[in-house]
Amino acid sequence: MKTKVILLGPPGCGKGTQAEIMCDRLGFRKLSTGDMLREAVRNGTELGKEAKKYMDAGKLVPNDIIIGMMSEKIRELGEVPLLLDGFPRTIEQADALATVMDVDVAVNLDVSDAELVDRLTKRRSCPKCNSVYHLTNKPPAKKGVCDRCQSELYQRDDDTEATVKNRLKVYRESTLPLIDYYGKMGKLVTIEGVGTIDGIYAKIEKALKN
Ligand code: AMP
Repeated sequence: MKTKVILLGPPGCGKGTQAEIMCDRLGFRKLSTGDMLREAVRNGTELGKEAKKYMDAGKLVPNDIIIGMMSEKIRELGEVPLLLDGFPRTIEQADALATVMDVDVAVNLDVSDAELVDRLTKRRSCPKCNSVYHLTNKPPAKKGVCDRCQSELYQRDDDTEATVKNRLKVYRESTLPLIDYYGKMGKLVTIEGVGTIDGIYAKIEKALKN
């Protein structure tokens, strides 16, 4: 099975949801740059204060900050099955990643823009365990409460319609070129990210076992 995996795709394509399942069922360790940055913001660290300015505007946090943060974590984790969610997001980040990890496969989840806006604006997140929900497609069992850890769910500051549109623009400009980058290396698998959560997961699992 492939054990060094990147999840690619626009914000709202289901990376976080699928990453949770892959960790539960396949024993992956997940590194999510978004989760790490939001934790730094909540803890009021220097990194968090700096990152928040970019995140609230739907812009990318500068490459040097992200690359430093991720390279250290990846080295620390060593030889575990590893799943990267939200990194790399630029060619520069992908080049830096190549110096610390050999990517086995880049899984790209393909979803239309209209669907993405709906998913993001109706997304609710857990501040403690980072589980993600959707008001209609994946509601929690008890309204406003995380199924996993019972924390109160919240709407991310950057999941409002105006910021979402900017995040999609930034995705197209900075991250979309990675599809070609991993495609040329023969490492890209594109999966249609619509349908049931389990149906999409089944396709990802098949790609990892191929
Ligand atoms: P996400 O949770 O992956 O949607 O990320 C939320 C926000 O964190 C993004 O809109 C960026 O501002 C920032 N961010 C996350 N990952 C990266 C990255 N690899 N490079 C730059 N900024 C990032």
